[in-house]
Amino acid sequence: MSMADRDGKIWMDGELVEWRDATTHVLTHTLHYGMGVFEGVRAYNTERGAAIFRLREHTRRLFNSAHIMQMPMPFSEETIVEAQREVVRANGLDSCYIRPLAFYGSEAMGLNAQGLQVHVVVAAWPWGAYLGDEGLKKGIRAVTSSYTRHHPNITMTEAKLTGGYFNSMLAHREAQEAGFDEAVLLDPYGFVAEGPGENIFMVRDGVLYTPPLSTALDGITRKTVLELAREEGIEVQEKPLSRDTFYIADEAFFCGTAAEVVPIREMDNRTIGAGEAGPVTQRLQARYFDVVAGRDARHTDWLDFVYQD
Ligand code: PMP
Repeated sequence: MSMADRDGKIWMDGELVEWRDATTHVLTHTLHYGMGVFEGVRAYNTERGAAIFRLREHTRRLFNSAHIMQMPMPFSEETIVEAQREVVRANGLDSCYIRPLAFYGSEAMGLNAQGLQVHVVVAAWPWGAYLGDEGLKKGIRAVTSSYTRHHPNITMTEAKLTGGYFNSMLAHREAQEAGFDEAVLLDPYGFVAEGPGENIFMVRDGVLYTPPLSTALDGITRKTVLELAREEGIEVQEKPLSRDTFYIADEAFFCGTAAEVVPIREMDNRTIGAGEAGPVTQRLQARYFDVVAGRDARHTDWLDFVYQD
């Protein structure tokens, strides 16, 4: 089903419009030059109906991305928080993916975007397991990409920038065409950075490792996993990791809002650990799914219940 041809409502510049009417002109600046900022947010069905996971943190990151790119946001953070809740409600959704996007309008072409109108839209739709249900259970096969993750002096690696995702798309497509499920991108210095849309972790001798944020996105799922691991009494280290440390890891996994927590059972044709979801990965994945679904009383503060005030 086309993303453009659906029933429902989309929040566009302050009001809900019909899904099919949420359109923009072909000379929209961001369509040409790729400077827009966005978020990927998920809501899950809980006993109290849909709850958006860490909504305020996602919205903060959207505004931080806009600030980094010097893109003046025409709405307050509070308005965009409310817009996301409103879109879920207006479409009668429970579990869904939410996509806020800010982009420049069509007032002018050329590289100078100063003074152009900034538009903000929020859409939401049901979206299942990003790397497949099977991947969540059994793990996926990853491959190191021939593409390098962005150098921090070529773009802004902490902004979730639309144009930046061409790098992710090249890597993801290359991996898929080679018969793998997902790519692993190395940073410009040769260390493992992240996946095209996921942060990455490994476990060795009971210690959980993840690359530092020098070139990876400051993922909200990454932060969540780190907090849950600490609660579980698992030692955590953030340090540069070469690709071969993953080959000899006991376990590895990707995590992200869309991907959730996905075991990596193989990397570059080397089996990782026992070639299945390892015990630490399984524990953290189970904790994650309990938290997002509101089954963990310790973390209901991370949930924004859409159908309640
Ligand atoms: N890295 C990249 C490049 C991403 O696009 C994403 C998805 N937003 C992530 C990591 C994971 O971030 P989060 O957990 O906040 O979704």
